[in-house]
Amino acid sequence: MDEIANAKPRNGIGWVIVAAATLVLLVAVILHIRFGRQMARLVSNQFNQEQLSVARGIEKLVELSLGNIEKDLLQLAGRIASSHVDPGDWAARLQPDLERMGMAGVAEIRIWDRAAGTAAVYARGIPFQTATERTPIGVESLLPVPGEIALTSPQVDGARITMFMLTPIGPGNTLFLGYNINLVWFLTPLLKDIRSGISGYAWIIDDQGRFLYHPFKNFIGRSAFEARKSAYPDLNFVAIDHIQKREMLQGREGTGMYQSAWHRGLTGEITKLIAFCPVHIAQRPRQFWSIAVVAPTDEIAHAVNLIGRGQLVLQGLMILVVVTAATALYVFEARFSQRLEKLVTARTRALKRSEEKYRLLIESAEDFIFTLDTAARLKSVNSYTANFFGSDAEHLLDRHLCELFSEDVGQRNSKAVEKVFTTQRSVREEIEIRSVDPPVWLNANYMPLKNDAGEIHTVLCIARDITETKNLQQNLVAAEKLAALGTLAAGVAHEINNPLGVILGFCDLLIRKQPPDSQGYQDLKIIERQGLHCKAIVDNLLSFARKREVSEESTDLKQCLEEIIQVARHGFERRMVTVRTELARRIPPVQGDCRQLQQVFLNLMNNAVAAMPEGGELYVGMTLEKGSRRAAVKVSDTGVGIPEHHLDRIYEPFFTTKPEGEGTGLGLFVSYGIVSRFGGTLSCESRVAQKYAEKSGTTFTVKLPLSS
Ligand code: ADP
Ligand code: MG
Repeated sequence: MDEIANAKPRNGIGWVIVAAATLVLLVAVILHIRFGRQMARLVSNQFNQEQLSVARGIEKLVELSLGNIEKDLLQLAGRIASSHVDPGDWAARLQPDLERMGMAGVAEIRIWDRAAGTAAVYARGIPFQTATERTPIGVESLLPVPGEIALTSPQVDGARITMFMLTPIGPGNTLFLGYNINLVWFLTPLLKDIRSGISGYAWIIDDQGRFLYHPFKNFIGRSAFEARKSAYPDLNFVAIDHIQKREMLQGREGTGMYQSAWHRGLTGEITKLIAFCPVHIAQRPRQFWSIAVVAPTDEIAHAVNLIGRGQLVLQGLMILVVVTAATALYVFEARFSQRLEKLVTARTRALKRSEEKYRLLIESAEDFIFTLDTAARLKSVNSYTANFFGSDAEHLLDRHLCELFSEDVGQRNSKAVEKVFTTQRSVREEIEIRSVDPPVWLNANYMPLKNDAGEIHTVLCIARDITETKNLQQNLVAAEKLAALGTLAAGVAHEINNPLGVILGFCDLLIRKQPPDSQGYQDLKIIERQGLHCKAIVDNLLSFARKREVSEESTDLKQCLEEIIQVARHGFERRMVTVRTELARRIPPVQGDCRQLQQVFLNLMNNAVAAMPEGGELYVGMTLEKGSRRAAVKVSDTGVGIPEHHLDRIYEPFFTTKPEGEGTGLGLFVSYGIVSRFGGTLSCESRVAQKYAEKSGTTFTVKLPLSS
């Protein structure tokens, strides 16, 4: 019980909660970081995919626009071929075509005469002119057939980048129609409004790595590798150089990330995401450009952060919920266990108290309380029982009833225990313990103790000392017998008394008439003596019967005793009996008539002396029993004692063990009558010489109520 009271599970659980909360927090942080990174990667990838599709869109746009120019070129070549107008006259006619195609980036229209080695040039804002000019480099080797197109690679001329698109006019490979496309004009309208994210843009390089279009005008026409480096020599462009060289210039499609130095006028180190794809410009000679769409990662980081922040808030909320729940649980648990603890402590205390109460009850009981198993062996014993048998409780455990009581009593009680187990009922038994002196009588009640299942596991015995009751009972039986006998005897005595008086009267008359020395005189004297003996008996009987003459007066017991001892002492001492008295100094008067009480004491003393034929000690003691308001007079001797089988009979009239003529057997009978009449008791304890040798003797006790 103490263990439960001392146990403090709250601390343990508190630590567990703290540890769990920390763990949750740690996991959340790690998850957040990992998730954040993953998220950034994911969003970057996603963003780059978007950029890639923007790049592809540009590719389509460029192809489409270039296709439109091609179509226009072929149409125009067709028209020129089918007309019979001299090419020199075409100047006026081509002006509207130039106006129209100027919108698509065409800066000049030329008609070459391969054989003559001249070219007619129709340029915007410039008067028509002819020049000695060969067909552009590269075209010569291609020599497109009618309906076919040839495209030169871009030519850089200062800030201008141009590209010729050629097709023959009619068969013969002599006349060629060419559009000179200003790539800045061509590409700017296509790309300037492209936006990736918020501020991302597109740029294009040709297959030699030159910028064909870039929002930063300075870069246009320059090598992408050198332009950056020369503009921002401190920065490292390894990443973009690598992407350009290994991916873009190989005509591949892809995504990546690089360090840039410029973004829409802002300079400095800027990390950018890039998606790129090739755009095929011409088949003969094979020519492609690479379109790149780029955007600073800041923008994405911003988005990622936004998501991350939301996620962080969510995680924070979750942790808060977990911690709050855990704390609530902890507090609840703590309160609960506290309440439980209090309850347990209170219950334990109550249990202890009640246990103690019962133990005290059993231990302080002046009854024999013990429990027995099926074999009638002691399983527990209270201290009264242990004290009675002069042992301690532990030594009595597991002893059999036969070891406690005499064999026959033990057997009888074992049977009683057996009976309780079989009948499940209480059994009462009277036990006489003869191992102590005087013997003790117990009234034992054997009761079944059942467990929860209703089975008897133990027998409880509560036994009470009933010796006194038993004695009283015996005395009562004796008293009733005596009373009956007394009445009978008194009746007889009364009947005999008168004739005896007559007999003695006539006897006296006859004695007087006889001379004293005659035989007749002697005979009559014998009759008279026997007659007087009878009269004494009759008187005794009558004095017993004289109930109505109870004297109400009270007597000074001490004085009464001293007088009679004084009278008798001398005679006793002659018979080698020493008299020892122990009389309490002051005793209130007792009920009774002094003369009659003296008769009682004298009877008892005579009997005592008679029991000590070889002398001994006669003890007379007087004490006051305050509790019961009685005076007790003990008359003890060291004589032969009274055998057990006589004890029941000594108060009977005419019971005597003395030889004829010495005892009447009425002494105790009459004494009993007198004491009873004054409301007192007469009792006897005796040890016979055969059994107790030197310690033999008899004690008679007279108890008389105080008169007041
Ligand atoms: P009696 O003395 O005439 O025999 P009692 O009534 O006085 O008659 O006694 C009855 C018997 O009780 C006695 O015969 C004797 O056997 C026994 N008795 C009485 N007192 C004593 C005693 N103190 N010691 C031994 N025996 C006694
Ligand atoms: Mg006597």
